[in-house]
Amino acid sequence: MKRTSQYDQENKFTTLLLKWNREQNTRKMPWKGEKDPYKIWLSEIILQQTRVEQGLNYYNNFIKTFPDVHKLAKAPDKKIFKLWEGLGYYTRCRNLIVTARYISKELNGKFPGTYEEIKALKGIGPYTAAAIGSFAFNLPHAVIDGNVFRVLARIFGINKPADSTDGKHFFTELANKLLDKKQPGLFNQAIMDFGAVVCKPAAPFCTKCIFKNNCIAFLNNKVNELPIKKKKNSIKKRWFYYLIMEYKNEIVIRQRKEKDIWLQLYEFPMIEAVKESDQKNILQQAEKKGWLEKKNYKAIAISRLIKQQLSHQLIVGQFIQIRINQKPALKNDWLWTTKNKIGKYAFPGIINQYLKAKVRP
Ligand code: SF4
Repeated sequence: MKRTSQYDQENKFTTLLLKWNREQNTRKMPWKGEKDPYKIWLSEIILQQTRVEQGLNYYNNFIKTFPDVHKLAKAPDKKIFKLWEGLGYYTRCRNLIVTARYISKELNGKFPGTYEEIKALKGIGPYTAAAIGSFAFNLPHAVIDGNVFRVLARIFGINKPADSTDGKHFFTELANKLLDKKQPGLFNQAIMDFGAVVCKPAAPFCTKCIFKNNCIAFLNNKVNELPIKKKKNSIKKRWFYYLIMEYKNEIVIRQRKEKDIWLQLYEFPMIEAVKESDQKNILQQAEKKGWLEKKNYKAIAISRLIKQQLSHQLIVGQFIQIRINQKPALKNDWLWTTKNKIGKYAFPGIINQYLKAKVRP
């Protein structure tokens, strides 16, 4: 295997990266160069597990609606969730609310300025703390995201899985060793940009790359093999059958309160099945639960199967549209809303797919 010495590599890495950043980096993002820790924090939370292209509009909407942390802290949960709708990983949104209220109330709106204090905030791990710390306060901590893992794994020919504990530790140490301590924010942004626009996951621009004479993966034809990933977790399949219970212009919805996916989002009354089921079976179960009364309803349509892929689960949903003859008393946490007002509630993606399709109620 062709190798340049690790020492040479490390020495050259930072110099070449910053040279690339100065001369060739044209990547633009609204939060780039931003010094306001509130805006940096918002962008980093939105970008956790989200592609930049997808997160951009959300970032702009949040900044427009809540220009400072006090405005975000004062907003009702429902409004914040609605703005977050479609971004997924809703725990981020819940943590965002808790942290905004903590900073606004307990810290008088002043974002903490040390790495340990930032990391102690809800929803902030080592990566986000390093990003906020380096961008807003020039703290010397390297960021380690998917881009950074990939760039380092390829250039240094590292065979450790980036998502293992050992791998994370190794990459963190290396990135911190390489970090330009005088300009950590600039270095962190440069390495992430480089991974996003040059050393991309697929079809990186190797022949034009500033590292092509030093990159172990390129010199050894191993670009497609690095970084190494641990085996994927198995995906659990779940079947959600939603009852669209309509009385005149009204529909029943409820808020999810269980310790499960989509906590605090809204949904239609739902029956979960362990395997694929059919309308007859689901309606029988709904009657048994006392949700529907025989002779007081009519099933008028059933949707096609709609799927939503989550990181560890595949949700398969189907929607049964039901017309109710006499308005029944509602179950504890159910509420009536009208078709016009349904857009005010934040729903999981699978329900929005249904609502946007032709089969909408
Ligand atoms: S040569 Fe290719 S694999 Fe190596 S750093 Fe450059 S783009 Fe990435």
